[in-house]
Amino acid sequence: MNRKTDIVVVGSGIAGMTAALTAAQSGKKVTLLTHGVGSLAISSGSIDVLGYVNGEAVSDPFKAISDLPENHPYRLVGEADLRASLGWLKELCGKAGLTMQAEEGNHQLVTVMGTLKPSWLTPISFCAEAMKDVLRIAVVSVEDMKDVHPGLIIDQLQRYPDLAKKEFAKAILPNPIHQAHRNVTPLDIARYVETPEGLQWLKDSLAPYAKLYPVLLLPPILGMKHSQKIWEELCASLKTRIVEMVSIPPGVAGLRLREIMKKALNEAGVYLVENTEVTKAEVEQGACKALTTIATGGENRWEADSFIIATGGLLGGGIGTAPGKAWETIFKLPLDMPENTEEWSSPNIFGNSLFAKMGVKVNEALKPVDAEGNVIFNNVRFAGRIVGGYDFAAEKSGHGVALATGWHAGMLAVKE
Ligand SMILES: Cc1cc2nc3c(=O)[nH]c(=O)nc-3n(C[C@H](O)[C@H](O)[C@H](O)COP(=O)(O)OP(=O)(O)OC[C@H]3O[C@@H](n4cnc5c(N)ncnc54)[C@H](O)[C@@H]3O)c2cc1C
Repeated sequence: MNRKTDIVVVGSGIAGMTAALTAAQSGKKVTLLTHGVGSLAISSGSIDVLGYVNGEAVSDPFKAISDLPENHPYRLVGEADLRASLGWLKELCGKAGLTMQAEEGNHQLVTVMGTLKPSWLTPISFCAEAMKDVLRIAVVSVEDMKDVHPGLIIDQLQRYPDLAKKEFAKAILPNPIHQAHRNVTPLDIARYVETPEGLQWLKDSLAPYAKLYPVLLLPPILGMKHSQKIWEELCASLKTRIVEMVSIPPGVAGLRLREIMKKALNEAGVYLVENTEVTKAEVEQGACKALTTIATGGENRWEADSFIIATGGLLGGGIGTAPGKAWETIFKLPLDMPENTEEWSSPNIFGNSLFAKMGVKVNEALKPVDAEGNVIFNNVRFAGRIVGGYDFAAEKSGHGVALATGWHAGMLAVKE
């Protein structure tokens, strides 16, 4: 099969979906080819912009951009496009009934490990500023939920000077879905709470604690599609403030955001092909002509004027490695890494590890460039974690870079 559209995007993480949406919303015919779901589905669904630079905490991520190296994706994309992409996502979520809250600086989210994590654009039910003004806080879990332990969370939170004097209490709700015959996850309970009987169960179970504690910290169990309505209803009827905590995967809030973006892709007319892997690229005279995917019964060929590659890093599938070498997996671009693999990581777990920053070298238009800065393919852009020059885990900049580069790539591709 041979199919032609204006723009082909590869990857349905936050970078690929953002690129496809911005291009389609500007009137282009867009095809999105994707193998898996991307790391949005295992994340908090909160957009970290920039939490740390060189290990130092950042209070205003935008002011800290100038402290980043010149090849950092934020320096290439620029503050204006970063802000525009955040505004665009906020509006998209708002229209879908999910308020994403931001302040000028970073705010702190509470995690189920009992840590505070800096983020910038956050679903309102995760915003924890209500904790500042109260003394008594209950930390809630559900019986058989193995990854959320109120005792551990409280011990850890009390190590923060601002929280040391709070009166925390543990609250374990009865497990409403015993028939699962296994430990339950926040995702199991969130799906149950989406049903009328599940919501009633949560209301009844929280009521005794709500009378005693003005803030309840909960794992992310407030439903899936209607999480904000559920949060508003519970806060109003129980007369308390509920704050969801960031959990370990599966990422309930990431899945909520992914659903919103997928629905928007459909509404924008993006031709989405899932469970398909791009295996090779046809390149002629410095331009990509088509990408190939394998399908039952043969190969499919996807032609376009312009291509956006948002295939993620080692986890997403965009980067391949073998001892002493690393490469980008579709165009087989070699990534600049030392032959001695021992140099890829730092002996200090929080140190400066080269593997964390490896990726495709791009220019300000997000086109791939060689060591001298010459563009390699003039109609191909890279977005998200596949772009080199930043360490999302150390910086806490993962979704922020993916969103900004996806938006920038989508907008530039439209102009071509
Ligand atoms: C556990 C975890 C939690 C995180 N939590 C947060 C958080 O709370 N906040 C935050 O800001 N950041 C977080 N991050 C970082 C953030 O998730 C990533 O940096 C960001 O989402 C990367 O997005 P991406 O779209 O570039 O790549 P990915 O999300 O990795 O998506 C890559 C996509 O490309 C597809 N793909 C790859 N190769 C091919 C191919 N050949 N053909 C077709 N499709 C292909 C993949 O299937 C996938 O759909 C977290 C990361 C992890 C691992």
